[in-house]
Amino acid sequence: QAKTSGRNTLCFFDPQMQEMVSAKVSMQTDLRQALDQQQFELYYQIQVDAADRTLGAEALIRWFHPVRGLVSPGEFIPLAEEIGIVQGIGHWVLEKACGQIQAWQQNPLACDLTLSVNVSPKQFFQTDFVNQVQSLIHSYAINPHLLKLELTESILIKNVEDTIATMNQLGAMGVQFSLDDFGTGYSSLQYLKKLPLNQLKIDQSFVRDLATDSGDQAIVRTIIAMAKSLGLNVIAEGVETFEQRQFLLGSDCTHFQGYLFSKPLPINQFEDLLKAMAG
Ligand code: C2E
Ligand code: MG
Ligand code: MG
Ligand code: MG
Repeated sequence: QAKTSGRNTLCFFDPQMQEMVSAKVSMQTDLRQALDQQQFELYYQIQVDAADRTLGAEALIRWFHPVRGLVSPGEFIPLAEEIGIVQGIGHWVLEKACGQIQAWQQNPLACDLTLSVNVSPKQFFQTDFVNQVQSLIHSYAINPHLLKLELTESILIKNVEDTIATMNQLGAMGVQFSLDDFGTGYSSLQYLKKLPLNQLKIDQSFVRDLATDSGDQAIVRTIIAMAKSLGLNVIAEGVETFEQRQFLLGSDCTHFQGYLFSKPLPINQFEDLLKAMAG
């Protein structure tokens, strides 16, 4: 095979490598069509306080691939970033989320729930991002306070001044911000102080071994104390056990999200859960 190809022909000698590359290419092709083919869905994961009252939810995208089945956003969101289509997907997510907030505003069980939406860096740095959010808030007539945008520290590497300016414009409209996966990135305390944030979200990697790992315990206590002193609320993600919840509660963290309470659910099941939680 290699002998017959010309000098300028690109060829792969490693069949396993070739398989990986072609799998990625076909995934890209499918991903480009997924939005038009309506293969995305939003799932909702409940967020609760220390008294198990519902505070809100995080919207998490799901891709139902016609052949592969469910593909995790951890797999396809980075790919969508890479091929420059995360903006369209992100807009779809935001629009769907605003529609959901509008529906909840009419529902006595859900009218004050915040909905957290993950925003990827390329989506956030679109020149018209503020306008997109503003026009969705307007079209769906939602209380902007109920929309919480989750940013990651990776956004800060790009451009701190632009990030702050964009956040300030959205914040002035009433939109809230949470810093997701906190502790896993590179944000300096200098930046953290400057950002108009409402919430820090403790990454699940620090929560996982919280019952036994004294290093994680120290980190989590420190994050909580720092958040408090900056006037931010703090939520822990990936809370799976009662012991983790107890440690967090004892360290003054009163907002939780994780499998202990519920997995992310399709909207119908999420609304059943809201009813059950309300007793
Ligand atoms: P994330 O925003 O940090 O979301 C938390 C992830 O942890 C979710 O995975 C959630 O299902 C999972 N999780 C929640 N509770 C637990 C728990 O108790 N234990 C464990 N082990 N995991 C838990 P998911 O839904 O697979 O999403 C993965 C990542 O994909 C998200 O991490 C986020 O970075 C990204 N993502 C998801 N939806 C969107 C979206 O609409 N837009 C963008 N840009 N990114 C998204
Ligand atoms: Mg998130
Ligand atoms: Mg997270
Ligand atoms: Mg994460």
